[in-house]
Amino acid sequence: MNALEVADISFSYGARRALEQVSFSLEPGRFTALLGPNGAGKSTLIALLTRLYDLQQGELQVYGHSLRRQPRLALRQLGVVFQQSTLDLDLSVEQNLRYHAALHGMPRQLANARIDQELARQHLDERRRDKVRDLNGGHRRRVEIARALLHRPRLLLLDEASVGLDPASRQALIQHVRDLSRDEGLSVLWTTHLLDEVQADDALLVLDRGRLIANGSTSAISAGHGGSLARAFERLTAPKACA
Ligand code: ADP
Repeated sequence: MNALEVADISFSYGARRALEQVSFSLEPGRFTALLGPNGAGKSTLIALLTRLYDLQQGELQVYGHSLRRQPRLALRQLGVVFQQSTLDLDLSVEQNLRYHAALHGMPRQLANARIDQELARQHLDERRRDKVRDLNGGHRRRVEIARALLHRPRLLLLDEASVGLDPASRQALIQHVRDLSRDEGLSVLWTTHLLDEVQADDALLVLDRGRLIANGSTSAISAGHGGSLARAFERLTAPKACA
């Protein structure tokens, strides 16, 4: 069963078309990069997946559950890290996670156990009593990942999670998420506009002006362009001459 099925999704903001007949599926347990320049439609797709917006056309399924017909079952499989951080800077790491667990009705004992496990998994154990304000950007993102994984989703969505981080923290964060996927079989959809966040063995989707213009392994997509992903991306997203 696929982790995610996106079938013929189109979406418009009034007269502005943001997604145009987008279809793809995600293999379970893989790290998939969704690459696209600003305005490509990445956040719109995440908003549809998290039901921030209602579907206008097409169908989304998460681990076989239709987002339209079985939203609770579908959403239970999803963890999300949004582009804008939503942590409370004046609460500690632990308090942020507790608050989230309580909001979602998780029994206290279960929440405590999960928080311990997630903090260990994100290598944040020693920072648990620190205020989020005192953490650097990379560690704040890890708190958000811990929070997104508290209910044990099988698919983690990250919308431009590395924005605002310095290059070293960006690479550390993305490697951390790749390791989570590889070691724990977590399915990951990582959206970015940055080519250097994509590796040769990633599954890759390229979105441009609302259309999916490439779908395959990074190496296969680069192969037709002299093995260079940068050249492939440049050519694929170049404005097309009108006939
Ligand atoms: P990305 O996340 O890849 O930068 P978005 O999904 O944010 O792309 O945007 C896709 C398109 O939809 C862009 O043309 C953008 O201007 C437009 N758009 C996004 N959000 C809104 C909105 N709330 N109202 C109108 N247009 C929007």
